[in-house]
Amino acid sequence: MSEVRHNWTKEEILAIYNKPMMELLYEAATIHRKQHDPNVVQVSTLLSIKTGGCSEDCGYCPQAARYHTDVEGNDLMTVQQVKAQALRAKSGGSSRVCMGAAWRNVKDGPEFDQVLDMVRTINKLDMEVCCTLGMVTENQAQRLAEAGLYAYNHNLDSSEEYYKEVISTRGYQDRLDTIDNVRKTNVTVCSGGIIGMGENIEDRAGMLVALSTLNPQPESTPINALVAVEGTPLEDQKPVEIWDMIRMVATTRIVLPETQVRLSAGRTQMSREGQAMCFFAGANSIFAGDKLLTTPNPDVNEDMKMFEKLGMIPQKPFTKKVQPQTVEAADSKFEALGEKPKWTRPDHKIERNEEAKQRGKVLK
Ligand code: SF4
Repeated sequence: MSEVRHNWTKEEILAIYNKPMMELLYEAATIHRKQHDPNVVQVSTLLSIKTGGCSEDCGYCPQAARYHTDVEGNDLMTVQQVKAQALRAKSGGSSRVCMGAAWRNVKDGPEFDQVLDMVRTINKLDMEVCCTLGMVTENQAQRLAEAGLYAYNHNLDSSEEYYKEVISTRGYQDRLDTIDNVRKTNVTVCSGGIIGMGENIEDRAGMLVALSTLNPQPESTPINALVAVEGTPLEDQKPVEIWDMIRMVATTRIVLPETQVRLSAGRTQMSREGQAMCFFAGANSIFAGDKLLTTPNPDVNEDMKMFEKLGMIPQKPFTKKVQPQTVEAADSKFEALGEKPKWTRPDHKIERNEEAKQRGKVLK
């Protein structure tokens, strides 16, 4: 019933998604209990180590330079700043720090070397380290692995078909290529998506087909509800209904039975009861901290109170996989090759992205 399958069809996934709610919940919770301890939740802290000024045009993202949003950009944080934040996250109950940089892709050079130092520093704090830095080459992924990276996040966002309605500056295959580069190392893969961007249910199922086809499937899958930010092309999207979130989480749990399913952006719009239903449906990970990169998130103390009410406990680091060894920069067996990941520039036009860009020009 809960073996890992890589041949799910969209029709099968849609049939699961559309089941009567009680049957869907029962099936998802049954699989969840077979594969995971239902009372344990993995807690990650997401840290924006370099904010804003990104050259891409992701329609949901307030960090894209071309839109006019209230996000204040900042340069790459120092290793000391990141260490201080990681220690804070650890004392707040997080087992993982995920560092996000608003880059299209990693560029070899002093900034990437600084990120590698951050990875070494956090791994030495005995916390799982994750990075989300855009596209990476195999060599860059190897260097991150050698520094002690535990996970690399690169979301598929939506189905291949709907991806074209949200982003025009790179293609779906580029995402898959970066995931493939990470898979050539011992770093685990974190990949998921966003619902509420105007996609239909077929697109949600299509994204799950793409994630389930990956072999191995991602070790962790964030399911985000769009936080519509003023100034972005998706500013007028209506909030996702909690029922959609529950269905999406439950379906993800069934299709990706071994994966840690993370209840990610959009939790401030959900009641505690709604979140509890998501945990019952198979979510077993959250992002903690009052900000998710640039959008609001529940206060960490509130989350801990919720876990106490639910009798849930935070997962210890390295429960699913042993801690990677950190190799110091001086002992690295990999050189910076100065290469760029290959990516496509589909550059088709997305009307709402173009309109938001024009509005951004006027307002700036
Ligand atoms: S989602 Fe990432 S790649 Fe896209 S605009 Fe935002 S920071 Fe850039």
